[in-house]
Amino acid sequence: MPLKPKQVTCQCGNTFVSSRDRIWCEKCADAVYYHDKDKNKTKLNNIYVTGVIVAVVGFLTYVFMELIAHPLLIL
Ligand SMILES: [Zn+2]
Repeated sequence: MPLKPKQVTCQCGNTFVSSRDRIWCEKCADAVYYHDKDKNKTKLNNIYVTGVIVAVVGFLTYVFMELIAHPLLIL
């Protein structure tokens, strides 16, 4: 969906014109968002994804300890 070209400023201070929802900064390769609120949405999404990954890794570690490491320790 084409957006009206708008001037956006990256966290590194680089300012340029964007007509996309998300564009990569040419100077620092960071993501720059057309709408400021998208940044917060992505931040929350990242926290959620990180939480899910931590939970999955924790669960897999538990399963590994119970099914694989624990019997080996008994032997
Ligand atoms: Zn930048």
